Amino acid sequence: MDSMLNKHGIRPTKIRRAIAELLFDGTDKHVSVDDVIDLARAQKIKTSVASVYNTLNQFAVAGLLRKVTVEQGRAFFDTNLSEHHHFYFEDEERLEDIPVDAINISGLPKLPKGRRIKSIDVTIRI
Ligand SMILES: [Zn+2]
Repeated sequence: MDSMLNKHGIRPTKIRRAIAELLFDGTDKHVSVDDVIDLARAQKIKTSVASVYNTLNQFAVAGLLRKVTVEQGRAFFDTNLSEHHHFYFEDEERLEDIPVDAINISGLPKLPKGRRIKSIDVTIRI
């Protein structure tokens, strides 16, 4: 785990290592800050909201997680870094993946001069 963190320019601390171990277990997941706090407490890992929040955002900036903001103040962190879209279940407050080729995107507007599309992320709220 340390080498993966180092490779992405993140100095492994006890809490970063613990959160990385919770998240990168080989299965795709979408987690909120609260989810990670619950996971950590279940493992008897002592942490705080601020520390989990900072760690998840650092991981996202470093490219270890993809941050999906579903509305102001509500973000999920996705361990699946491949290109895909999401259903957002508003009543259950959870995301589910939609394969990238399940959505056809056409009729995009002309881009501002000199700009290129980096990615298109579709969230369908249901
Ligand atoms: Zn996803």
